[in-house]
Amino acid sequence: MSKIILTGDRPTGRLHVGHYVGSLRRRVELQNSGMFDKIYIMIADAQALTDNAENPEKVRQNIVEVALDYLSCGLDPAKSTLFIQSQLPELCELSFYYMNLVTVSRLQRNPTVKAEIQMRNFEASIPVGFFTYPISQAADITAFKATTVPVGEDQLPMIEQTKEIVRKFNSVYGDTLVEPEVLLPDNKACLRLPGIDGKAKMSKSLNNCIYLSDTEEDVRKKVMSMFTDPNHLQVSDPGRVEGNPVFIYLDAFCKDDMFAEYLPDYANLDELKAHYTRGGLGDVKVKKFLNNVLQEELAPIRARRKEWEKQIPAVYDILKEGSRVAREAASQTLDDVKKSMKINYFEDNALITEQAQKYQNV
Ligand code: ATP
Ligand code: MG
Repeated sequence: MSKIILTGDRPTGRLHVGHYVGSLRRRVELQNSGMFDKIYIMIADAQALTDNAENPEKVRQNIVEVALDYLSCGLDPAKSTLFIQSQLPELCELSFYYMNLVTVSRLQRNPTVKAEIQMRNFEASIPVGFFTYPISQAADITAFKATTVPVGEDQLPMIEQTKEIVRKFNSVYGDTLVEPEVLLPDNKACLRLPGIDGKAKMSKSLNNCIYLSDTEEDVRKKVMSMFTDPNHLQVSDPGRVEGNPVFIYLDAFCKDDMFAEYLPDYANLDELKAHYTRGGLGDVKVKKFLNNVLQEELAPIRARRKEWEKQIPAVYDILKEGSRVAREAASQTLDDVKKSMKINYFEDNALITEQAQKYQNV
């Protein structure tokens, strides 16, 4: 069976280091591993509109920002198909049929959607589109017969919902759709990177992000202002590394050889953590190290972005061509789905013969 990746991001803002460690970095590795037959990367504008219906300009502006972030991280249009969700009407059709296979109470139980509803103060007035976006996400994944979905931990309930839809569809209409597997980061710190404010998730909507496109100075300022252990007041105080965003970021980004370069008093992160825990190590020193670590990772991304920023029309061309290619794949799946559901009336010769015979025989 082909190995196919589908994943994506909502164009609600530029991408941040949470996206990078949660999914983007892995995608680039997978792309370059040569182990996948097809890789589809989607800018989920239709999904972004489910909670930004009154703000289409925000979505429109951020399409190119996300595309620039993709290209600057190393997603390569020669190896990965980069496309825009709304340009594939087939995805809406699939969602419409899948809606019959999911109950309202099942959607209400989705923990990510529950948390997002709360975060957006939607309790009293949830847009139907937002409430049902896990179904539309199942359409996105299955349209490409994706086997592998590399995402952050918050997406687990979506993949679970997709699997249920696939099983239900296949059991009712016959084997048609492919059940995807989620691919979470192996590094625990990357599952859900916290915000610089210490909140559980770095998220565009929470304004607590370090963006991939932030300037060197912005990154430095954000790192120096980061939330740490609130009880670590004096340098001599023992500190906590668990739940401390500065150390979580180091877990996500730091490699041993960076110590030799930027903090030679320590051989590795374990030694640094041990010192912080027993006391005598100040936050400023750790933050300065984190800043160096982040700058090393972000500098080449920033430099590639500058190059792509000079070629905006070419970026749109990449998305246009990617959307064309993706649409062909989705359209093939939609044909399969309609055939399985027996709603492909005009290609169904058996149906025509059957009906004709019924009337001839009367
Ligand atoms: P929004 O607030 O608009 O939902 P977001 O910041 O949550 O934006 P998404 O576009 O919803 O970003 O997520 C895109 C991908 O990035 C998903 O795979 C998600 O799991 C991953 N991701 C987002 N935030 C983080 C994070 N803080 N840590 C790890 N992965 C993340
Ligand atoms: Mg999100």
